Amino acid sequence: MTEPNEEQKQPQCACIKDPFAVLPPEMRPRPQKKSNLRQVTCLGCGLVFWTNRETNYCMDCEKKLGQGS
Ligand SMILES: [Zn+2]
Repeated sequence: MTEPNEEQKQPQCACIKDPFAVLPPEMRPRPQKKSNLRQVTCLGCGLVFWTNRETNYCMDCEKKLGQGS
């Protein structure tokens, strides 16, 4: 078993698993979870679905749009 790079070691305490624990919640990096999801009604077919993307089209309609047909 080889040690990781010395530079990457935390000199003070290696038992801290969350380096952001000391930061206030708004300063912590957000984990990319379901919080980004929003409910969208597809403008193409009316399908209601959840997405974290900017689109207002479901996967199927986006495919059609992407094909430019
Ligand atoms: Zn659709």
